[in-house]
Amino acid sequence: MITDFSTIIIGAGAAGLFAGCNIKKGKTLVLEKNNSPGKKLLLSGAGQCNYTHAGDLDDFINKYGENGSFLRPALYNFKNSNAIGFFKELGVGSVIREDGKVFPESLKSSDILNALINRCKLNNVDIRYNSPVVSISFNNELEFFTVKTNNEKFTSKNIILSTGGSSYPNTGSTGDGFSIALSLNHKVVLISPCLTPINVKDYSFSDLSGISFNDIKITLWRNNKKIKETTGDVLLTHKNLSGPGILNFSRYIMKDDTIKINFINLSEEELSTLIDRQTKENGKQLVKSIFKDINISKRFIEKIFEICQVSEDTICSQLNKKDRLNLIKSLCEHSFKVESLVGYHLAMATSGGVSLDEINRKTMQSKIIKGLYFAGEVIDIDGDTGGYNIQAAFSTAMLAVKDINKNLTE
Ligand SMILES: Cc1cc2nc3c(=O)[nH]c(=O)nc-3n(C[C@H](O)[C@H](O)[C@H](O)COP(=O)(O)OP(=O)(O)OC[C@H]3O[C@@H](n4cnc5c(N)ncnc54)[C@H](O)[C@@H]3O)c2cc1C
Repeated sequence: MITDFSTIIIGAGAAGLFAGCNIKKGKTLVLEKNNSPGKKLLLSGAGQCNYTHAGDLDDFINKYGENGSFLRPALYNFKNSNAIGFFKELGVGSVIREDGKVFPESLKSSDILNALINRCKLNNVDIRYNSPVVSISFNNELEFFTVKTNNEKFTSKNIILSTGGSSYPNTGSTGDGFSIALSLNHKVVLISPCLTPINVKDYSFSDLSGISFNDIKITLWRNNKKIKETTGDVLLTHKNLSGPGILNFSRYIMKDDTIKINFINLSEEELSTLIDRQTKENGKQLVKSIFKDINISKRFIEKIFEICQVSEDTICSQLNKKDRLNLIKSLCEHSFKVESLVGYHLAMATSGGVSLDEINRKTMQSKIIKGLYFAGEVIDIDGDTGGYNIQAAFSTAMLAVKDINKNLTE
C-alpha cells in the first residue's frame, strides 16, 4: 500500500523537527532512520544545546564563511530572537551566556528536543522511526514524489530534505542527503569535515595540553601565499590544535597548508623592540624574564626555549642574533604544517553540501524540481561555533515551511 502525504520531511534532526512543528496545512510525515529523534541535537553544546547566539543579526552573516549571504533571507525571516521566543512559548526559557551563546534555562538539550517533539505531536505530524529513506523519485508529469524506505513507499507533493551532513555519523548523519540530492539532479559541493581540530606535523605541545590563548592571530598559507587570517582562541590539546579560533577556521584549511600563529599578540617588531629595551635596561636579566609581565603561560615560554634550543639561563646581553630571531619567530609566527583535519567522527559540522546555486534562498525550494526543499546542514552552509548551525537549521526549515504553507490549500 502506498500512503500519500502533503509533505514528507526526511530526517528528525534540528531542521526536520522544526519544520514539523511549523507546518500548518495538510498531512505531514517525518521519516527518521534512527530509532529515536534528534541524536545530534542531544549532543549539541556538550549536552546543553547552544541553539542560537544573542549577537546582532548583521554579524551572523559573517559566521558562515563565504556562503553567509545566502542565509540572509532565512535569518531575517526567523531570527535569533524568534528562536528564543519560540521556545519560550513552548515553556522552555533561555539563558544567555556572557559570550552571547544561548541555551535552554535548564542547560539540558533534552528540553529543546522534547519541546520540538511535543509540538510536532500537537501538529499531528506523523513521525516514523527506523525508516531510512533509500530513494526519492519525482514524477515530472504529475508533479509528485515517491519516497522509498527499506520496506515502505510513500507519495507526496512536497519534500523537505533535512538529513544533515556527514559529521558524527553515529548520530545518523551519514551523508545520505547528498546522494539523494545527486539522484535528483542537484549539484553537491565537495564535502569535508569542519569545526574540527587540526593535526599538524611534528606537534611539540603534547605536554602542554589544556593551555589556551585568547584572541590571537592565526594566518593560513597555501603554496607560500597567505590566503586568510582570523583572530580567535586557540587551545593546545595533547594531540593537536583546537579551540574556537581553530575550529571556526577549519572550514578553510586543507592538508599540507601552513598555519602560522602569533601566540603572544605582539608583532615581530614589537617583540624585538621589547627585547632591545629590556636588554638596555638590564643586560644581566634572564631573557625568559622579559615575558613575565606578558599574559602568557610560563610553561609555554619554557617550551618555546626548548624548541628553539635556547638555554633558559641565557641572559639578555648574551642572546645571539640567531636565537633571538628563532624566539621571535616561534612566538609571533609559529609555523605548523597541516597533516590532516580531524575526521568526521569528531567534526561538529560538514562544509560543502547541496549547491546554493540551485536553491532559491527566499524559499529553500529547489530551482530544478518543484516541491523539493532543503533545510539544515545538508545545504552547502556551515557556521562557526556559538549556536549558528542550529539557528541556520531552524531558519532554513522555517523558510521552506513558509512556502509550503503558502502553497498548500488545506
Ligand atoms: C558534538 C556536536 C556538538 C554540536 N553543538 C552545537 C551547538 O551547540 N550549537 C550549534 O548551533 N550547533 C552545534 N552542532 C551542529 C548542529 O548540531 C548541527 O549543525 C545540526 O544538528 C544540523 O541539523 P540538521 O537537522 O540539518 O541535521 P541533523 O541534526 O544531523 O539531523 C539529520 C537527521 O536526519 C536523519 N537521516 C539521515 N539520513 C537519513 C535517511 N536516509 N533517512 C531518514 N533519516 C535520515 C539522521 O538520522 C538525523 O536524525 C554540534 C554538532 C556536534 C556533532
